[in-house]
Amino acid sequence: DVRHGSILYLEDVSVSFDGFKAINNLNLTIDDGELRCIIGPNGAGKTTMMDIITGKTRPDTGSVWFGSRHNLLTMNEPDIASLGIGRKFQKPTVFEALTVFENLELAMATDKRVLPTLTSRLAGEDLDRIDEVLTLIGLKRLKDREAGILSHGQKQWLEIGMLLMQKPRLLLVDEPVAGMTEQEMERTAELLTSLAGKQSVVVVEHDMGFVRSIARKVTVLHQGSVLAEGSMDQVSNDPEVVKVYLGE
Ligand code: ADP
Repeated sequence: DVRHGSILYLEDVSVSFDGFKAINNLNLTIDDGELRCIIGPNGAGKTTMMDIITGKTRPDTGSVWFGSRHNLLTMNEPDIASLGIGRKFQKPTVFEALTVFENLELAMATDKRVLPTLTSRLAGEDLDRIDEVLTLIGLKRLKDREAGILSHGQKQWLEIGMLLMQKPRLLLVDEPVAGMTEQEMERTAELLTSLAGKQSVVVVEHDMGFVRSIARKVTVLHQGSVLAEGSMDQVSNDPEVVKVYLGE
């Protein structure tokens, strides 16, 4: 019973830690090419939900499907990643001593399961992909600079670029604009909206202004379940949502 046209489908998912239900009958459908924002107060279950999707945490009950064919609950973390699910954690983890270009090259090499030989000649299509990603993340001009000299925002974009090298079908992004300047936030909004359509993107974010600027559809998590879903205007006017946020 899997929904067509969706890339990710969680049905009645629950998980408890020491008897505490962190995720409680969660139902979530992400469409192909969609950009979805997940919001909710601290402890709502957002991180646990991401951990379940990537296979880091196994739910006690429910089902998790990727596309219409892949039952993620039968798969381990590396196999789930190789289906095309990329996760970007909050802190950037680029290789500071390597150049921007080399970071992207390395990210591609991992995908091919070969040891990265940074001096080897790249095939034309690989160079094209790196070029394409450099343009997307706005770092073409800095491609031969060491990643260590990049600003916080630029490092975040580079890390998104590294995930893009593997052509993911679903990108999970954890608080992308934390610590960014206003200008970097605008650039990040452009980047994430430009990715949607080509791949599905799920963003967990606390900054409501940023969520409003990118999301067509927002899911509000509370106590491990979906409290509300809809446009930012719809959910922010929902009395239940207002109560949860004011009561925090
Ligand atoms: P959010 O990311 O929305 O802040 P989390 O998913 O981190 O929420 O946490 C949901 C709830 O589950 C919290 O109350 C948290 O303390 C609890 N929790 C999460 N992971 C664990 C764990 N490994 N062991 C015990 N409790 C956990």
